[in-house]
Amino acid sequence: MNFEINKLLLEEKIPFEFTLKNEDVKDIEGKIGEDGALARGTIEKLSRGTFFVTVTVEMTMIYPCARCLEPTPVECSYEYSETVTVEEDEVVLNLVPVVEECIYINEPYRVLCSDDCAGLCPKCGSNLNHEQCSCDKNGDLDPRFEALKKLL
Ligand SMILES: [Zn+2]
Ligand SMILES: [Zn+2]
Repeated sequence: MNFEINKLLLEEKIPFEFTLKNEDVKDIEGKIGEDGALARGTIEKLSRGTFFVTVTVEMTMIYPCARCLEPTPVECSYEYSETVTVEEDEVVLNLVPVVEECIYINEPYRVLCSDDCAGLCPKCGSNLNHEQCSCDKNGDLDPRFEALKKLL
């Protein structure tokens, strides 16, 4: 994940490959699966302190289902490239932030555990894929209106 800048300066383009675990990253929505995230790509020297990084990240990401919140694995292959500038006194180029950015900008807006996920009961919160609660699904009234209804 850390590349010595002195070595990078010797070549025009250097290929890299490393694996990140979930605990190595922050600021992403999903959770990286147990096998980790395989990051592969190239570091291209543009100038003394500027590198063009291209990366492909392959992994199983775990996202909560948008309807029932069940952790749902999704096979992902995300691509990203960025020009990275390093300070004069830096000795290593750390690619973890680039991988984080790659995951972050590609994350799906909405994940469903299955297309026909029944979701959660809006009243009691039961997962309707696994159990049938006894809530009245038709009378979607706020409890405060229940009292009024009795008066009608
Ligand atoms: Zn679901
Ligand atoms: Zn219910």
